[in-house]
Amino acid sequence: MNRQKMSDYKFLRGGGEMGELIRSIDWTATPIGAEETWPTELKIATGIMLSTPFPMYIAWGKEYIQLYNDGYRPILGSTKHPQAMGISTRETFAEIWHIIESMFDGVMEGNAVGFPNFMLPLDRNGYVEECFFDFSYSPISDEDGNIGGVLVTVIEITEKVSRLKELQHTKLDLENAKAETEGQRDQLKRFFMEAPAAICVLNNYDLVFELINPLYQQFFPERQLLGKSVLEALPEIKGSVWDILRSVYDNDTTFEGNELLIPIARYVDGPMENRYFNFIYQPRHNASGKVDGILVFAFEVTDMVNAKKELEKEKDKFKLAILAAELGTFDMDMEKGTMEWDKRCRTLFGIDHQDTVTYEKDFLEGLHPDDKERVSKVIDRVFNKSESNGFYDVEYRTVGVKDQKVRWLRAKGQAYFDEMDRPYRFIGSVLEITDKKQEELRKNDFIAMVSHELKTPLTSLNGYIQMLQIKATKNADTFATGTLNKVTQQVKKMTGMINGFLNVSQIEAGKIPLNKSEFLLNDLIKEVIAACALIAPDHVITDCPCGPLPVYADYDRIEQVMLNLINNAVKYSPNGKQIKIECQLIDEIVRVSVKDEGMGIEPAYVDKLFDRFFRVEGNHTKAIPGFGIGLYLCAEIIQLHEGKIWVESQSGVGSVFYFSIPKLGILSGSL
Ligand code: ADP
Repeated sequence: MNRQKMSDYKFLRGGGEMGELIRSIDWTATPIGAEETWPTELKIATGIMLSTPFPMYIAWGKEYIQLYNDGYRPILGSTKHPQAMGISTRETFAEIWHIIESMFDGVMEGNAVGFPNFMLPLDRNGYVEECFFDFSYSPISDEDGNIGGVLVTVIEITEKVSRLKELQHTKLDLENAKAETEGQRDQLKRFFMEAPAAICVLNNYDLVFELINPLYQQFFPERQLLGKSVLEALPEIKGSVWDILRSVYDNDTTFEGNELLIPIARYVDGPMENRYFNFIYQPRHNASGKVDGILVFAFEVTDMVNAKKELEKEKDKFKLAILAAELGTFDMDMEKGTMEWDKRCRTLFGIDHQDTVTYEKDFLEGLHPDDKERVSKVIDRVFNKSESNGFYDVEYRTVGVKDQKVRWLRAKGQAYFDEMDRPYRFIGSVLEITDKKQEELRKNDFIAMVSHELKTPLTSLNGYIQMLQIKATKNADTFATGTLNKVTQQVKKMTGMINGFLNVSQIEAGKIPLNKSEFLLNDLIKEVIAACALIAPDHVITDCPCGPLPVYADYDRIEQVMLNLINNAVKYSPNGKQIKIECQLIDEIVRVSVKDEGMGIEPAYVDKLFDRFFRVEGNHTKAIPGFGIGLYLCAEIIQLHEGKIWVESQSGVGSVFYFSIPKLGILSGSL
């Protein structure tokens, strides 16, 4: 029988491509044998298999020789077909044989099996892949129940399973993403709640308070905001920011408010308050980019704005006061390297240009030549914190650049220092005192003239007293002698005072002469103490046991200084009894000190003590007579000796006045 004939078997008809393949096979060469010898049940099963599009597969006989249809073909992939047709399952499915063998054997014994979603690792495309099947293995038996093979009906669901897996992954990813988004949302909410700015979120067209952080709620402590629309919760904003909010929402624009006045109540039914805010209204968008709310960031700046207003008011008052007092003001900024003078200050320096002023060109150049060096030194001292504490108070003359007018000015100010004690700012004011100065000059001239005129009758008076004293001594008239002694003291006092005034006018004229000689300073001190002891019986004046101290100086002038200092120590310590004099030779410098336990001097006055006509103003000094020229004279005399004079004092405790002069009358160092 030729092959063409064999293919004519009815049970082998049709079956598409696999039908063709089955018909082309020489079954005699297989354990199944020639088609005409196939048992009926195999023929029937093959016929059914070839006529159904449903995947079907027959494993026949002990060798499980395979026949399959077009529906089954894809399960064999690219490497198993076509050679699988007509050979043993054991060979074709070697990689899974250990799994399916027992099931096949079971079927041969009559036990049909079937599993949904069964995984088999098939090597059908050059690699092992996990393949999933819904399948059933059922026996093919003859009419007596003898089983000849296995009929496999199968649907491969690998793609469905992998899509399912993908779906599961996607679901998992989605869940993770959701959890992450929720986490981020929580974090954002926490950030909102803990932010150092007041934040709220207004939702939808009606602008309903959706989220409010504690700082925002603090603006309106007991007012219920959450869940209410802005107009419902804060109706009073209708007159202020409502239009702005509406426009931010409707026009999708951001609005930034700066120190904006919003009259609003703090509490429910509370009074309206004028409150100021810095804020940002930021439109919020939904997924499709449409505005669906507004984010509000706000800071209340009411206190700051009110403080600023107050400051402006104070500034205006200050300006008025400065104007009324005819003060000029200056402001030097060392960090920026700038100097600012107001109009009045420029006038007082006779400047008519409008350019920025400079320290060298305008200030120093504007000073009177005789005052330049002194004022420069004062300013150097002001900038030395330890020496001056930044305090500035000086009188000087200016010579107008344009009008050449000489003006007397009093400048007062303060330098400010950084943590390294470097000055960074120097501000102050200047006041014209030309009239006062001229008045002083006239006063000086008058005092000089009067003192001069008084000296002559005083000299005669002294002469007459001496004559009377001689006479009274001769007559042993003790009453007259005593009285004349007292008169002599008073005349001496008066002479001292008149001499003082004369000295002042001499100094003013630069005419105080020094008559230097060598003498023992310790002897001079002893004599002065003895003289003072007579007029201050209530005080104990003690000298220090210093050895001989020869100096080359003006005896009378140094005596005048000592007298002044001891007299002051007595005068300004009405309750203190002890006055201690000390002198010391340090290198080639002699230093003398006069210490009292009196009223002391406030630190603010210490710098001014040696100024002419300066007296500490206070109730306790009012009753003590004086003209404020004693220390001025002392300072001038010591300066003429190239020495130094200074004071250390504590208010209510006492003072120590020091002076030092070079031993040989020549400056060889300083203390
Ligand atoms: P006067 O004593 O005539 O007022 P002085 O020039 O001698 O003038 O002194 C100036 C000012 O210094 C005094 O008015 C006084 O306020 C203060 N003063 C001087 N010596 C002392 C002292 N030992 N204790 C306290 N204050 C003093």
